Amino acid sequence: MKKCVKCGLPETYESIEFDQSGVCNICCQRTFRDEKINWEQRKDDLGHLIEQYRGKYDYDCIVPFSGGKDSTFTLWYLVKHYGLKPLVVQFNHGFMRDRLKENNERTFKKLGVDVLSFTPNWKVVKRLMLEALIRKGDFCWHCHTGIFSYPMHVAIKYNVPLIFWGEPSSEYTAYYDYRDNEIEEVDETRFNRFVNLGITSEDMAGMISHDFDLDPRDLTPYAYPKMRDLKRIGYRSVCLGSFIPWDVKKQSALIMEELGWQGDEVEGMPPGKYSYEKIECYMQGVRDYIKYLKRGYSRVTQMTALDIRNNRMEKTEADHLISEFEGKKPPSLELFLEYLDLTEDEFNNIVSKTVVPPWQPNFKVESGKKTWDFNRWYREIKISD
Ligand SMILES: [Zn+2]
Repeated sequence: MKKCVKCGLPETYESIEFDQSGVCNICCQRTFRDEKINWEQRKDDLGHLIEQYRGKYDYDCIVPFSGGKDSTFTLWYLVKHYGLKPLVVQFNHGFMRDRLKENNERTFKKLGVDVLSFTPNWKVVKRLMLEALIRKGDFCWHCHTGIFSYPMHVAIKYNVPLIFWGEPSSEYTAYYDYRDNEIEEVDETRFNRFVNLGITSEDMAGMISHDFDLDPRDLTPYAYPKMRDLKRIGYRSVCLGSFIPWDVKKQSALIMEELGWQGDEVEGMPPGKYSYEKIECYMQGVRDYIKYLKRGYSRVTQMTALDIRNNRMEKTEADHLISEFEGKKPPSLELFLEYLDLTEDEFNNIVSKTVVPPWQPNFKVESGKKTWDFNRWYREIKISD
């Protein structure tokens, strides 16, 4: 496969393009971010934005919150630097790990914030996972649509028009390019551009209603709210990372020090190396494994690419980590197959239909190591009736 000569991301990576010298667009937009964007001006813009909304509603803003490093930093930053009174909104995808829950409790208590948590119907979640896996080779539709829709419903219900997300997508993909020098609006356009994989909740209802006892209201949390309702409250939905330059390593260290936030092991990742990354979900290993089967790279490649771009790692070290850790079968696959009632052959067959050429997957790979909390993850126990 063709790879970026600088960061090593392959041609199967979402939204990637290469220039004549073989450097990818993600690397180029990153250089623009560091050299051309006027971050002092952006910081002033943030201050003005906040003052437009401060003290005028029951809450100054909504912070959608997963408990990962980015949303934790966002919440900390807005409370500590601007003294905002936020409403924290948590969409619980159903796979939260124990250390994450401990982090969340500590963060909420230390910062002193109000929190709303919502957990959708598990039976619906499982059916959505299966359908999205079959259609797109990406079972996370329920999570991504829920995370980006549900807080918008809350914004309307509570009449809180300002919503702060964390990192802009330009850090990782080129759907929004830093070189356009615009503020990335986290709105319905963005939602339909890449969050929902091209499947709206209406589409989804049509896809699953033939074999699933669906109440039309079951999919409301995954549907983007009506534009007129959002316009009526005068909403503004933006990323904090559009106003301050995002620095994952620095920010992770900061929340560890300020909030006692703790990282965790993640399946398929080098132990201790990226313990701040993607600790929210115990299905992360399966997600990364599917990405490997479909596109020939996994999270190790993504993380080392980011480090190389930040001049924190040499290419040779990255290659070493990739060859040692990438492409292992995660222990969580067993649970995943149990939830969706699939055999591994059926799973492989589904995934093989979504492979991105020129990559050709090998389904016979060795198994990776269990993380410390594997035995605490939810198991489906068949109860006969
Ligand atoms: Zn690159």
